[in-house]
Amino acid sequence: MIFIITNDIVSNKEREDGRKLDEIRPLKIEAGILKRADGSAYLEVGGNKILAAVYGPRESYIRRLLRPDTGVIRCRYNMAPFSVDDRKRPGPDRRSIEISKITAEAIRPSLLLERFPRSMVDIFIEIIEAEGGTRCAGITAASVALADAGIPMKDMVVGCAAGKVDGEIVLDLSEKEDKEGQADVPVAIMPRTGEITLLQSDGNLTEDEFDKALCLAIEGCKQISEVQKEALKNRYEA
Ligand code: UDP
Repeated sequence: MIFIITNDIVSNKEREDGRKLDEIRPLKIEAGILKRADGSAYLEVGGNKILAAVYGPRESYIRRLLRPDTGVIRCRYNMAPFSVDDRKRPGPDRRSIEISKITAEAIRPSLLLERFPRSMVDIFIEIIEAEGGTRCAGITAASVALADAGIPMKDMVVGCAAGKVDGEIVLDLSEKEDKEGQADVPVAIMPRTGEITLLQSDGNLTEDEFDKALCLAIEGCKQISEVQKEALKNRYEA
């Protein structure tokens, strides 16, 4: 008898968690779950559990941020100490500061902030449990919370990553795929216009592989966008 021992995460085009290469993880979004925030959303995708809360637009109480011609947004992405296997040290670090910045930049183009001069909108993203892809899932949840707050927008921004694992281009990487794979391409779009508002790339990809990963991530975004809309519909029909 011959035993073949393989450590592949992707073998015979099936992933370790049973998903197809182009399949997203099970996804659930609920809008309006916090009483005290102006808008909120809860999102689960795979093992990620994420809460987003929005305040505003309200008059800017920070003078240096005040813009006479438009509103501004601020974002804080925060990982709870208990959200990962090795307890995360509380408070901001380089990674959370980077993700807060790219999240604000990914969302800003969707909001009609020029209607709210001298004001600000605050977005808080709390990662309660993390399992890969939290920056994209945070953007998706924050957009639902912004819509729930009634902030005028062109479209809800939606995020999804694709990447390369065991030589295959796969959609919506799990934590293991993210850590042990060869590349990760987080993307956020406004589905209505197709405008890309976030594009990062970490790892090694050929030009063809990058194109394939980008197209796959955009397909993932479109699927997730339907769940975003459903979450809002459920909130306002209820
Ligand atoms: N992670 C972790 N500890 C940390 C930061 C991240 O265990 O301090 C895990 C977490 O599951 C996260 C994954 O590593 O989702 C991938 O992190 P990355 O920086 O690539 O961002 P993400 O994929 O969450 O957007």
